[in-house]
Amino acid sequence: AKAQGRHRYAFYQPELTIQAEKRLWLEQELRAAIDRDQFELHYQPQIDIVRGRLAGVEALVRWRHPDLGLVSPNDFIKVAERIGVIKSLENWILETACYQLSQWRQEKISDFKMAVNISPIHFHEPELYNTVQQILQKTNVPPELLELEITESVVQNLDGNITMFEQLREMGIKIAIDDFGTGYSSLASLKNLPIDCLKIDRLFIIDMMEDADSSILLGTIIGAAQALGNSVIAEGVENREQLLVLRGIGCEIVQGFYFSKPLFPEEIPNMAKKDFRN
Ligand code: C2E
Ligand code: CA
Ligand code: CA
Ligand code: CA
Repeated sequence: AKAQGRHRYAFYQPELTIQAEKRLWLEQELRAAIDRDQFELHYQPQIDIVRGRLAGVEALVRWRHPDLGLVSPNDFIKVAERIGVIKSLENWILETACYQLSQWRQEKISDFKMAVNISPIHFHEPELYNTVQQILQKTNVPPELLELEITESVVQNLDGNITMFEQLREMGIKIAIDDFGTGYSSLASLKNLPIDCLKIDRLFIIDMMEDADSSILLGTIIGAAQALGNSVIAEGVENREQLLVLRGIGCEIVQGFYFSKPLFPEEIPNMAKKDFRN
């Protein structure tokens, strides 16, 4: 047994080392990536299907690495959270997105909102408030045009501490609950929290097409959210059938590949001019 153990040890050790080395390398690369200017933002249009116009864009980060190519946020946000660089990364994202919006506004491209994702870790940092305020001042972006997207998990782990919500709300910026329907937060959070927008997760939109109960439930959620003064964005809308059902149950804003994938910044002005009716 001892011999076998030694054999196993000898066999697995190099492999583990390679994995650990790879991980360490990725972490080092990620730490250096901000200074090396390797991040970029793409912007996905959010379409107001009632008025037929661009309502906003969501800033989505990508990591352009010389060896790895374009890396998806799904592959590095968790790492960034783990190694403690998420705050500096998202501060860069906030600032870049707000500068971009102010540039579009200077070019007299019609008013639309900028949505930025904020990690739960970052949202629980008290200094987020000052950071956001400074960036808004520096870029001259009206607070009501900035929307922070936070996931349901933030709502679940509040423990009654809603200070950040209240402070941000006082500043005039908007808060959206991202991926709504994937966790366990209830409609009660709509009543108890100062939020402005519900983003219905893509999986909910897929379910909606598969059974009538789901679309009835979704219609009820949309109605309740809107009655409480919130806007609702349906995410991951990929086809006309989904669009028609959503329109039928009162959804007003839609984001997804049907209208547009995330775009390079220079592609956005065209979207802002477009008429999306019919
Ligand atoms: P998310 O916030 O739910 O963003 C929407 C994701 O769905 C984006 O993926 C987008 O490209 C994709 N998507 C949009 N429309 C469709 C569609 O019609 N069909 C399908 N199948 N997918 C669609 P992306 O850009 O890869 O981002 C993945 C996730 O990474 C985001 O999900 C978000 O949770 C996270 N993320 C992106 N940027 C940031 C950031 O700046 N900070 C943090 N904390 N997370 C970010
Ligand atoms: Ca989001
Ligand atoms: Ca989402
Ligand atoms: Ca999602």
